[in-house]
Amino acid sequence: MERIFIFDTTLRDGEQSPGASLEVSQKIKIAKQLAKLGVDIIEAGFPITSDGDFEAVRLIAQEVEGPIICGLARALPEDINRAAEAVKYAKRPRIHVFLATSEIHRKYKLNKAKEEIIRLAVEGVKHAKGYIEDIEFSPEDASRTEPDFLYAVIEAIINAGATTVNIPDTVGYAIPEEFGSLIRNIIANVPNISKAVLSVHCHNDLGLATANSLAAIAAGARQVECTINGIGERAGNAAMEEIVMAINTRKDLFGFTTGIDTTQIHKISRLVSYSTGMVVQPNKAIIGANAFAHEAGIHQDGVLKEKTTYEIMTPESIGLKENRLVLGKLSGRHAFTVRLQDMRYELNEDELNRAFISFKAMADKKREITDSDIEAIVSDELQTIGETYKLEKVQIICGTPGITPVATVAIKNQTGEIIEKTADGDGPIDAIGKAIGAIVGISLKLVNFSVQSVSGGTDAVGEINIRLEADGRLFAGRGIDTDIVVASAKAYVNAVNKMIVSREQ
Ligand SMILES: [Zn+2]
Repeated sequence: MERIFIFDTTLRDGEQSPGASLEVSQKIKIAKQLAKLGVDIIEAGFPITSDGDFEAVRLIAQEVEGPIICGLARALPEDINRAAEAVKYAKRPRIHVFLATSEIHRKYKLNKAKEEIIRLAVEGVKHAKGYIEDIEFSPEDASRTEPDFLYAVIEAIINAGATTVNIPDTVGYAIPEEFGSLIRNIIANVPNISKAVLSVHCHNDLGLATANSLAAIAAGARQVECTINGIGERAGNAAMEEIVMAINTRKDLFGFTTGIDTTQIHKISRLVSYSTGMVVQPNKAIIGANAFAHEAGIHQDGVLKEKTTYEIMTPESIGLKENRLVLGKLSGRHAFTVRLQDMRYELNEDELNRAFISFKAMADKKREITDSDIEAIVSDELQTIGETYKLEKVQIICGTPGITPVATVAIKNQTGEIIEKTADGDGPIDAIGKAIGAIVGISLKLVNFSVQSVSGGTDAVGEINIRLEADGRLFAGRGIDTDIVVASAKAYVNAVNKMIVSREQ
């Protein structure tokens, strides 16, 4: 069976989701997991945009083995130089050069004529080719570009040395049949197209990113660009898990294969959700909490008699196991470590120590610790790296009638000093936010707050995701605890720590 190449851009396009910014250490963790998942190419970032982005791409190129490591660049020498510098340590580096080609972009954004666009695109590819062999080129807003001009651009950049040509539906405007035709027409009208891999990059503004990507594959595209959980600019990118599971489930129709180990899908989905603070909607295809839940009596009855009556994929195929009761208060460090190994987590000594302390604290409050709880603990450890502030204490008074919510919060700073403040607010969460804001000296504006239960039961672990606004940017924070008030305070502190890192950068 023919192979479809999976190009993951979670760390580049995905990170462009509002509030989803990731620290370098988080990016490396995600990249390592992407390698385990089996993606063919990791687009690790856009090196020219910031020192942090450059550093992340450079470290991923050095440390992550397996996939091709790619850096994005505009068709400008300084962009390309920076991208080349960042990816050069990878065993298999790639530079991805892009330049807009549609009339709207030429006229309003670039103010350049067609000939000028072709010249710049060719120069960009040639410049990148001076560093490495593997060059991808994207005519940005391709789906809204005049077809004849698009063919001319593609022919020219392949002649200049591009080895992958990516056709982006940058604004999510295309409709599947139309997008499939575009791909077929490119193959029919670009004489040297067989010298490059044809790729697509679809956005989800009309909810059609996956459909458009699949239509493109059926029409002859052999690389798909996508993100975990479909995160990305605006309504997001095509979701990796949807494309891969569609190709797998409908092998009969597509006749293609990918290099993805689908049993790793659930794990990477959770990791990306935890790290970015982008909560997955319950009804999201493949990875939503309800994706394998059967509610209607007739459906339940059918599934009990024969799974395939209402199940086209198994939960196990994406690595979802039934929630086993594993550990409790009496479980020791060895049992905890073994369970982590079973769940295929690789923690270093320091991370393991902290995770074990969290585990013991949770086991004091909660009788049975499930895999989901352990997953929550580990993900919490993964994102507390490099923390400036640490929550020491939180206490609230609230209720009816007519009681003003008051929060007292104590936080330990980098020098080990514990600062305590009390504040009132419109509600307990508001009061916590104001107290923390007073401690760190930043006015914190809460724009989003959500609470979820990690596992079932009255002693379930609560997961709080928040978004704070500061410096004109959004910062996601996440906290877990059996007490949602404590989890809320942890989420605030987590978001504040990200803010501090961002200010330092
Ligand atoms: Zn994009």
